[in-house]
Amino acid sequence: MRKMLIAGNWKMHMTAGETEQFFREFMASLRQPPFREALGRSRLEVALFPPFTSLYVAAFALEEAPRGFSLGAQTVHWETHGAFTGEISPAMVEESGCRYCLVGHSERRHLFGETDEMTNLKVRALLATSLRPVLCVGETLAERERGETFTVVRRQLLKGLESVPAHRLGQDVVVAYEPVWAIGTGKTASDDDAQEVCHFLRSVVGDQLGAEGAESLRVLYGGSVKAENSAGLMARPDIDGALVGGASLKSDSFLAILRES
Ligand code: PEP
Repeated sequence: MRKMLIAGNWKMHMTAGETEQFFREFMASLRQPPFREALGRSRLEVALFPPFTSLYVAAFALEEAPRGFSLGAQTVHWETHGAFTGEISPAMVEESGCRYCLVGHSERRHLFGETDEMTNLKVRALLATSLRPVLCVGETLAERERGETFTVVRRQLLKGLESVPAHRLGQDVVVAYEPVWAIGTGKTASDDDAQEVCHFLRSVVGDQLGAEGAESLRVLYGGSVKAENSAGLMARPDIDGALVGGASLKSDSFLAILRES
């Protein structure tokens, strides 16, 4: 049985002070019903991805969180150290208290030139540590309209996972399907469309890397997820959680998604 993962990507929002404020409210709500009772027995895992400068504050606040709450970083460099001004290594991310790291988010691909080759280097570098990559794939609106969705996500997935041993897939890698046209736009893929692509991604992994890895691989959906649409998406058999942007920035709206999942 795959464990559901709800992940909140804060992007370049939230100073350390704002992070502290977020967690004050968030942790207080987790101590109240319905969360207090529900979280103890739930199959739900929750991860927040603050900016690097907020990781220590967030890690400190999460020390009091129930089991299943963790942190992730939004990107990483693939080298262990060196003359890479402005970059952060996997070991640095690991030591900041993270369990996960996003790789190939569409904003990294489209605004910062992250290629499939770079995503693969990052995935492999993360897997050399205790960190778990969350590999993001997704088509642009133009690609969808040209009927290229499946070709694009297949390429991003297989290139991103190149040379990753099959036995690492189920446990240590998460895939997030994030159609670019749905990110930050208020447009969400329909439950059927999201399910179809998530199912496709799982079947590609099954064909190329073995049925066992595919069955245990977690595939998330991301793109304007909020409390109003999350329950329908999460009920689909191949959608194992959500990668949430805007709605993860406010404790209330993020908690509302957790409540629906
Ligand atoms: C994201 O940042 O990955 C994302 C899905 O953003 P939003 O939920 O705001 O569309």
